[in-house]
Amino acid sequence: MPSVKSACIVGAGIAGLTAALALARKGIAVHVLEQAPALEEVGAGLQLSPNASRILADLGVDAADTDRVIEVWNKIDQLDEGNRERLLSDSADGRKAPPIAISAITGEGIPVLTGLIEQRVSGELETIDVTLAPSQLGQIDWLYRNGDVVKRTDNDDGSVSMTLQATASTRDEIAARILRHGKH
Ligand SMILES: Cc1cc2nc3c(=O)[nH]c(=O)nc-3n(C[C@H](O)[C@H](O)[C@H](O)COP(=O)(O)OP(=O)(O)OC[C@H]3O[C@@H](n4cnc5c(N)ncnc54)[C@H](O)[C@@H]3O)c2cc1C
Repeated sequence: MPSVKSACIVGAGIAGLTAALALARKGIAVHVLEQAPALEEVGAGLQLSPNASRILADLGVDAADTDRVIEVWNKIDQLDEGNRERLLSDSADGRKAPPIAISAITGEGIPVLTGLIEQRVSGELETIDVTLAPSQLGQIDWLYRNGDVVKRTDNDDGSVSMTLQATASTRDEIAARILRHGKH
């Protein structure tokens, strides 16, 4: 383990974010500071040389990896209805992960994009029902921190029933924790 435990990076440009990712891969907690209120497009795009692309691929940012990379097409508001539909249907043709069309001006497509990012970051969410015996109520705090609790019922016998949305790995962790802190 590195002796440095945390780092602060000033600037969330490609250099800062690449450095943040590299440090995070080494187990260093990174705090990225950015002065701009929003990260916006400047110029036509970023051209990356093959050596830079290789470094990004080593860090898991590989344009060919459709499980991790989301292709976004901005400025969709510039196209009329017919051209837009043609472009999107051509681009979706046979592709596992077709590009997401958005407009940073009108906001079109942004909810789809943010939903997809959330899904990629947290994985597919499952609905999980769990009932905690009185001796297991210490787990409630953990459940709130690790899942999205959509319903909670405090039962007359002192147990608590909860319905939450969480990833498959959280579901497995819940099962393990409940087993570990089993009813006494
Ligand atoms: C107008 C313009 C058009 C361009 N067009 C293209 C193009 O079409 N294709 C291409 O390949 N390249 C283009 N470039 C170049 C490209 O943007 C840069 O090479 C690249 O973004 C540099 O990345 P970087 O991370 O080093 O710096 P930047 O992307 O500049 O990131 C630095 C970040 O640090 C933040 N920052 C600075 N000081 C502070 C502070 N004190 N506190 C907190 N945050 C701070 C800034 O707000 C910024 O977000 C263009 C550049 C400009 C200016």
